[in-house]
Amino acid sequence: MATQPTRRIDRKARMQLPPVHARSRDPQERVHDFKEILVLHSREQAMAEASRCLHCRNAPCQTACPLHNDIPRALQYLAAGDVARAAAVYRETGPLSEVCGRVCPRRFCQAACTLGKTGTAIDTRRLEAFVATTARLEEGVPLPEIAPATGRRVAVVGAGPAGLAVAETLTRKGHAVAVFEQHPTPGGLMTYGIPRFKLDLDIVQAKLRWLEKLGVTFRCSTTVGQDITFDTLQAQFDAIFLGVGTQEHYRPGLPGEDLAGIIEATEFLCRANLPADLLPAVWRAPLQVGPRVHILGGGNTAIDCVRTALRLSAVDEVRCYYRRSEAEMPCCHEEYEHALEEGAGFQWLASPSEFLGDDKGRVRAVVYQKMELCELDASGRCRPVPIPGEDFIVETDAVVLALGYRPDAAFTQHIDGLKTERWGAIIVDDLETGRTSVPGLFAAGDVVRGADLLAPALANAIHVAETIDAYLRGT
Ligand SMILES: Cc1cc2nc3c(=O)[nH]c(=O)nc-3n(C[C@H](O)[C@H](O)[C@H](O)COP(=O)(O)OP(=O)(O)OC[C@H]3O[C@@H](n4cnc5c(N)ncnc54)[C@H](O)[C@@H]3O)c2cc1C
Repeated sequence: MATQPTRRIDRKARMQLPPVHARSRDPQERVHDFKEILVLHSREQAMAEASRCLHCRNAPCQTACPLHNDIPRALQYLAAGDVARAAAVYRETGPLSEVCGRVCPRRFCQAACTLGKTGTAIDTRRLEAFVATTARLEEGVPLPEIAPATGRRVAVVGAGPAGLAVAETLTRKGHAVAVFEQHPTPGGLMTYGIPRFKLDLDIVQAKLRWLEKLGVTFRCSTTVGQDITFDTLQAQFDAIFLGVGTQEHYRPGLPGEDLAGIIEATEFLCRANLPADLLPAVWRAPLQVGPRVHILGGGNTAIDCVRTALRLSAVDEVRCYYRRSEAEMPCCHEEYEHALEEGAGFQWLASPSEFLGDDKGRVRAVVYQKMELCELDASGRCRPVPIPGEDFIVETDAVVLALGYRPDAAFTQHIDGLKTERWGAIIVDDLETGRTSVPGLFAAGDVVRGADLLAPALANAIHVAETIDAYLRGT
């Protein structure tokens, strides 16, 4: 572990330092390509921004980070120009530092920064991205020490952030880990969800190569439950971890929703953002979208679909339809702002009631029902109710369904004795241990917590890996 740098600082002087935040590429330029919109700090800018850290005694940024990264210590090294040591601090707790620095929302570490109470919070997320990327590109990421082999074998099902975190932690502890992934390449939603303009594919692939060097084995294009049975895994491995995420889309269940041109968010994002060789065979045909695209939903996935559609050369107009008002949108505000800058249109208080097609069976229009907001519902938001007789038809060439995700019940039902919630999540005795109702079977990430964010899924998985280690050692 790196040595603790000195923390004697002049807080008053630091509060006067001007903020140096990373910027985003110009909207007019970036909307024509799929390259990352984040422009990383230069080294000088990063050092200047890190120098603003007040090193608060209670480190609210560290508390607010789901992984509890020691941000003040990393920033102290960065302020002194020691990027390698700063990167090592992030790596102590964060296995996907380069990714988190790009995709974490502001509401964790950055919103907790003391400087933000009276002025501008430190750009903690983008400094983490700068540190992790610069360290990797300049010096590579060193392989950690691996404990002597225990002779124990672990199967990890699902190569998303949760599965990768468990694979890394257990490999370092000397267990032999094989990761089974249904898609052609690992990464989970980091590869098959989050668009490239938020997270460059090279970053995910560099991490995957590093994990292979560490000793993790990947068995891709292998669907557990189809290509290999769960019983076979149980017979071959000493413990199994399920990090299968939430694979199933919520569907509106409306007339006409099977028309051609109506596509689920994940398929749309993958086909638009990924090269064909990384796609499952069924998604390799070129994406057919006309000039007008409707996106249904108001969460982060809907915004990612909006911004992806805007980047497609065949598309002229993108409109997002949401059944509540702007204030209730659950998406991250920063990304909503980015979508507006890039030219997206939004229609509030409109819910689809029917999809209309042409004689070739392709969607041509959507019937929307006007809504109004009534009393608060169980989620604490105003409940939208239809205004009778107030509907309208809007022509379109494609519709993307981004109405949320839930775990795939077809997968979990195949596992004898596995208890799940009614909505499909795997029940565990405790989030920290991840023990399921089946002995030797553990779970974490979105399949337990529901569709959420990357850092909490990681934090959950790291805790569960510790329990699996204890289980394998019989302690
Ligand atoms: C479009 C989109 C954008 C997002 N953007 C952000 C963001 O900006 N910031 C953020 O913090 N979070 C974001 N998230 C959420 C974040 O990606 C997830 O919370 C996180 O990936 C969950 O990790 P996980 O490992 O639990 O599941 P996943 O990432 O879903 O990984 C599960 C893996 O299991 C595999 N799998 C499933 N069933 C099987 C099977 N039977 N056999 C083999 N493999 C199987 C899947 O193919 C997948 O690779 C986004 C999510 C989506 C959908």
